[in-house]
Amino acid sequence: PSPLAPAPKLVIDLERLSQLPKDKAGPLARYAATIQSQRGDYNGKVLSIRQEDLRSLAVIYDKSPVELTEEFISWGVLDAEARRAVESF
Ligand code: C2E
Ligand code: C2E
Ligand code: C2E
Repeated sequence: PSPLAPAPKLVIDLERLSQLPKDKAGPLARYAATIQSQRGDYNGKVLSIRQEDLRSLAVIYDKSPVELTEEFISWGVLDAEARRAVESF
């Protein structure tokens, strides 16, 4: 990719997240809720998060960022574009 291409974004689908069972989605749901509260951003259907946040979430879920990204894609919480966002990890 060109060095001038925009960085791919990590965009959480909040509607999908709210439909998932708590045992899976609980930690991500709490993390997203904390970011929403820090930003005062409550009305979105989606939430853009930092690349760095995926590292923190990977520690929480005890997986590598790449593995966790695949899991979130399989849940429908991230779209396939997110793969490109973790390529640089
Ligand atoms: P902060 O990190 O000191 O950021 C202060 C303000 O800088 C943010 O206020 C936002 O207006 C802007 N800002 C910082 N980084 C970015 C960025 O990558 N993109 C954009 N669009 N703006 C950025 P805001 O949004 O009210 O957030 C307040 C505080 O809440 C932040 O202070 C940070 O401590 C926390 N926060 C908000 N969103 C996130 C997030 O996605 N991840 C993490 N780790 N913390 C967040
Ligand atoms: P985009 O990044 O492709 O986002 C498209 C739309 O997804 C946004 O339309 C908004 O409705 C939703 N969206 C994405 N991330 C978030 C989020 O973290 N919280 C919420 N509540 N909604 C989100 P919107 O707001 O009309 O923005 C249109 C475009 O304007 C964005 O396209 C982006 O290119 C730019 N933009 C808006 N806010 C920011 C920002 O804080 N930083 C930067 N760099 N661009 C922004
Ligand atoms: P974005 O606003 O389009 O920012 C894209 C990238 O530009 C960010 O990727 C970060 O590397 C850099 N950037 C933008 N604003 C700042 C800033 O104020 N300080 C620093 N140090 N870097 C900045 P990153 O971190 O992966 O964030 C991805 C997206 O997550 C951002 O896209 C934005 O939509 C959202 N985001 C991240 N942090 C915040 C925040 O604190 N507040 C809000 N409202 N949105 C945030």
